[in-house]
Amino acid sequence: MFRCSEVAERASLLMDGELGFWPRLNINLHLAMCPGCRAFVEQIRITHDLTARADTTQDPVPSEDINAALERRQMRSGWKT
Ligand SMILES: [Zn+2]
Repeated sequence: MFRCSEVAERASLLMDGELGFWPRLNINLHLAMCPGCRAFVEQIRITHDLTARADTTQDPVPSEDINAALERRQMRSGWKT
């Protein structure tokens, strides 16, 4: 099983989904028993989610508008064919 430092080292890899089955299992086992690392990984996850969202949505447009625009585009291309 991983120690705290090893969990910390792999936390960002875990977020990126770049860890294999066993390291992931080891981390989850550690997290089940270590509140400190649970809090740490939770922090990383929040930061990771925020940066991931910042990467994908450059414009502050609500996703409903994007979906509506996509639907209109699909309808238009549907007419053409
Ligand atoms: Zn720990």
